[in-house]
Amino acid sequence: MPAAPVKPTIYRHPHGISAIDAEYLYAGHAAAHLIEDSGRAAFVDVGTNDSIPYLLAALDELGIPRAAVDYVLLTHVHLDHAGGAGRLMQELPGARAVLHPRGAPHMQDPSRLIAGSKAVYGEARFRELYGELEPIPRERLQIAADGERLTLGARTLELLHTPGHALHHYVVVDAAHASIFTGDTFGISYRALDTPRGNFITPSTVPTQFDPEQHLISIDRMLAYRPESMYLMHFSRVTGVPRLAELLKAQIRELAAIARRRAQDADRAQAIRADMLALWIGLARREGSTLDAAALERALAGDLELNTQGLIAWLDRDRERKS
Ligand SMILES: [Zn+2]
Repeated sequence: MPAAPVKPTIYRHPHGISAIDAEYLYAGHAAAHLIEDSGRAAFVDVGTNDSIPYLLAALDELGIPRAAVDYVLLTHVHLDHAGGAGRLMQELPGARAVLHPRGAPHMQDPSRLIAGSKAVYGEARFRELYGELEPIPRERLQIAADGERLTLGARTLELLHTPGHALHHYVVVDAAHASIFTGDTFGISYRALDTPRGNFITPSTVPTQFDPEQHLISIDRMLAYRPESMYLMHFSRVTGVPRLAELLKAQIRELAAIARRRAQDADRAQAIRADMLALWIGLARREGSTLDAAALERALAGDLELNTQGLIAWLDRDRERKS
């Protein structure tokens, strides 16, 4: 790949942690994270193929040689997190891509991932967003067991399996720095929605493996580490974790209740989406947000759509299991 003439947006956080805007959909939507310790580095989630030039430019700007990157930690294989991983691995000679046992096969052979994503986005939109997915050779993949510890420089990173958003999801715990890289397991928190009381947060209930009970357990499992900072893909660092966890858990319960209540509606998608938006507007008001309803709906439009699809997929899966 020729040196790409892009200017990365880099956010410097404490403890050798940086966020790089993955430039997915719009600035401030998705962040890849980079952890540096004693001359070694690891990415946590990478964005799409179009994100990779920004990540490589960020390495240059931060003075980190490509050969110093030991790990590409992929919390799960949703394409906004891992779509560019194959291409990035080709640029990082010493890195291993670390995946949940259920996620790794999809990086080695992305055909099912492509088919699943086309079902959500349609052919044309898929091409535009994700392009050609590069497979990662088997010998460069590392399977992450639950509780597995990795060494990065002088730092220990612990990987926890955290189903709920996706069955094949893990998070990266940096216990010494009270930080967790949560992928999508600690929801979504756009900086544009911050309120006087702190960050605003919403769960991501996207297709096809959302499971409210597992999700609540996974959040409690993370809270047991008493983290001070959570690093989200959407969008980077949040603090005041106990308050956010309560907001998140209440919404996971409420969204599941909305889906069940609307399951028999003639247009359940429309009804679920409307109830979700009303819930979010109410919560944002309660937290002191000064954004009007239309601005909130604009900011959360993509999530309303995907969350609704995911809740419907959950309802249908639930019904099949009981029939
Ligand atoms: Zn996801």
